[in-house]
Amino acid sequence: MFTKRTIRDIDVRNKRVLVRVDYNVPLTPDNQVADDTRIMATLPTIRYLIEKEAKIILVTHLGRPKGYDPRLRVDPTAETLSRFLNKPVRKLDRTIGEEVRRFIDIMNPGDVVLLENIRFHEAEKRNDPTFARELASLADIYVNDAFGAAHREHASVAGVARFLPAVAGFLLEREIVHLQKLLEAPDRPFYTVLGGNKISDKLGVIKRFLDRVDCLFLGGGMCFTFLKAAGYNVGRSLVWDDYLDEARAILDEVTNSHSRCKLQLPEDVVMAPEIAPGVETRVGRIEDFYDDWMGLDIGPQTRATYAKMLNEAKTIFWNGPMGVYELPEFAAGTREICRTLAYAKAATIVGGGDSDAALRSFGYSGLMTFVSTGGGASLKFLEGTPLPGVEALLDVDVPVEVA
Ligand code: AMP
Repeated sequence: MFTKRTIRDIDVRNKRVLVRVDYNVPLTPDNQVADDTRIMATLPTIRYLIEKEAKIILVTHLGRPKGYDPRLRVDPTAETLSRFLNKPVRKLDRTIGEEVRRFIDIMNPGDVVLLENIRFHEAEKRNDPTFARELASLADIYVNDAFGAAHREHASVAGVARFLPAVAGFLLEREIVHLQKLLEAPDRPFYTVLGGNKISDKLGVIKRFLDRVDCLFLGGGMCFTFLKAAGYNVGRSLVWDDYLDEARAILDEVTNSHSRCKLQLPEDVVMAPEIAPGVETRVGRIEDFYDDWMGLDIGPQTRATYAKMLNEAKTIFWNGPMGVYELPEFAAGTREICRTLAYAKAATIVGGGDSDAALRSFGYSGLMTFVSTGGGASLKFLEGTPLPGVEALLDVDVPVEVA
């Protein structure tokens, strides 16, 4: 259940509504939006607010600027949004200040403006209360629809909510409802596939899922830390030495305790001496690792085992590629996971980031039950870390008052 107030609970008519969106999108070299998924995902909230005759003030970050950076102005996202809405979206050249205030004063109900990249102000990341108050003073109501930034304790995500009635947009609500269901009431069997490189991002989820999922399938760079912890020689594969003890403890828990969860590690891998296009590759069983080679994808036997088992699932959560999927030599494992999920009868929830990029590059996007717009935020939520952007919103049992 979603326990926060949403835009349905508040009268927005003729009100200035500050909406935090996450338009942190990739840009092409000629400054066009290369992937508009995150912009499209906010349309239900924006269209609702237009219909309800709010004055809509959007704010986002883009990239990691250190102060003002003309290459990271948010004009391209305003143009894309304007096309989707089929109405002008005025991009302002400032984020706060008198000029912005004057423009907002003359907005009509249903108008949409986009403020300049909030991260041009370093006060944003510091969650500076003066900056948050200044931002809040532009509006009567605050809406958070930026799930991808909800794990950041920044002024436009968390701080601003102290000064205004703060509610969730439809995207934020949808994200939490899907992820919460995984934690509370997944249809079983519930299987989870985790890959990618950074083991630190995923250990929290692995630990929390041990008594929640029925089987955990590991792949990607991080599985070699587990394979090494299990006693295998993994050649020159990526191993996170600092996490070997934790990996060993997880393996012990799965094998020796009565935890619900089974753990599947690769039986075979695609190896190569280096990560490079056109490099020589070999398929080998885990017991027969070449000393100087690296494991860069799950092997054909593992692909078949994972696919067969995943077909039994009623719920599947997936985050992280099974190999270096950016190169065709090491893409088969990730492609097979995409294909299996696309054809599965199960509810399929995907944790954004590289997994979403893989779905698109292999032609399987649109075939999942839900793809999160926030890779980092979804992992934080699933590991049980409270998200500042969600915590800051009004609880459902708190009455909503607009000044
Ligand atoms: P992450 O950001 O942790 O989800 O990691 C995603 C990255 O992991 C992708 O860019 C993949 O190329 C990379 N990756 C996946 N498998 C491996 C592997 N076996 N060795 C090295 N990198 C990998």
